Amino acid sequence: MFMANQQGFFKRYLSIPFIQRMGIAFVLGIIVGLIVGEPITVIEPLGTLFLRLLQMVVIPIVIFTLITAMKKLTPNQLGRVGGQTLVLYILTTAIAIVIGLTMANLFSPGTGLTLPGDFTMDPSEAPGMIDVFLNLVPSNVFRAMADAEILQVLVFAIIFGIGMAFLRETATPEIQKGVDTIFSITETGSEVMFKIVRGVMEYGVIGVFALLATTFGNAGPEALVDFGILIAAFVIGVALHIFLVYGLILNTLILKKSPLRFLSGAKEALLMAFATRSSAGVLPITMKTAEDNLKIDESIYSFTLPLGATINMDGTAMYQGVAAIFAANLIGESLSLAQQLTIVTTTVLASIGTAGVPGAGLIMLSMVLTQLGLPLGVVAFVAGVDPILDAFRTMNNIAGDLSVTSVVAKWNNKIDLNAGAWVGEAEKIP
Ligand code: ASP
Repeated sequence: MFMANQQGFFKRYLSIPFIQRMGIAFVLGIIVGLIVGEPITVIEPLGTLFLRLLQMVVIPIVIFTLITAMKKLTPNQLGRVGGQTLVLYILTTAIAIVIGLTMANLFSPGTGLTLPGDFTMDPSEAPGMIDVFLNLVPSNVFRAMADAEILQVLVFAIIFGIGMAFLRETATPEIQKGVDTIFSITETGSEVMFKIVRGVMEYGVIGVFALLATTFGNAGPEALVDFGILIAAFVIGVALHIFLVYGLILNTLILKKSPLRFLSGAKEALLMAFATRSSAGVLPITMKTAEDNLKIDESIYSFTLPLGATINMDGTAMYQGVAAIFAANLIGESLSLAQQLTIVTTTVLASIGTAGVPGAGLIMLSMVLTQLGLPLGVVAFVAGVDPILDAFRTMNNIAGDLSVTSVVAKWNNKIDLNAGAWVGEAEKIP
């Protein structure tokens, strides 16, 4: 009797569309977190489990999909896709900062607040530009995999894939057969990984609830009030960026599709990005969304999305711009136009160097503040409310990765705009 009831419950539960279950968990997580407050952090391990399950599949998925893609892309095509992607990533990031600065100038967050004296800290060391480039090449590929260095793994997988593609043309029939076998192993491997991601997302309903309850429980309603203007300036900036840049410019003008279609295709990845606050962690879901809902070819997203998860951080860049003005306001200084222009270049670089993990943007903020001679104590001052801002900026980061990927796919004829979310088909996940 009990078993039958249980089965009935699960059947009913599973008959609710995934996105609705996810949406309910999302909203409930925020409400429960705000009401219960700090004690809710006892359920944090449920959220951590979700993050770990995602992290478990990130590296294999990057390797399998990228090597498989190398079968289809010539080095020339790869170069073109890489160039287009980088230009769009950097351009959209710069626009995000300008929007952030505009919002911060309009809202003047920080005026009326004082920076408590005991919030001092040492500036953290930011890596130099040369190191950033050298760090692209792993000195030990297994260590890179073990440390989840996505960019290094990406570089190795591309080189390995190109090596195989060349061998396929020139080597003895024996080796050619071997190359084909490896390609079919990676192809199967990526299918297996996506199957696992589907299961992980099912658990994600609980994971998202736990993560959001913990984030909002830790911050508490007071933080939302105290930092209300900062949050408002930033969240409106994020909304404007998503609707104007990704929606109107990229979707309406280039893809010739309604921004709403794009958002409906991307929604699972966006919600999960909000909850996990990690571009790198949510990468398997971003990839699945690109494949299933946005109908983008693996040869494009297997390259652009891991790259975007590590270097394309529009939300992070915008946040650093807003926070710089917040810092200036706190000490009653106003930044000149020239200083604000410096913020654009500094934050583009800082956002590229920010890792796709929770809270990384806050650490990089100290680099931006140091460059501008603003008080570093701000970093500690906003730390309490940062997880909430991080949720919004990570969601923005992922929206940026997916929209640029859609555009680059369109430019290379690797997207089916007559299928999936583009024509309003119900989402395929799971
Ligand atoms: N959490 C962000 C991300 O993973 C980075 C940041 O802290 O801004 O995209």
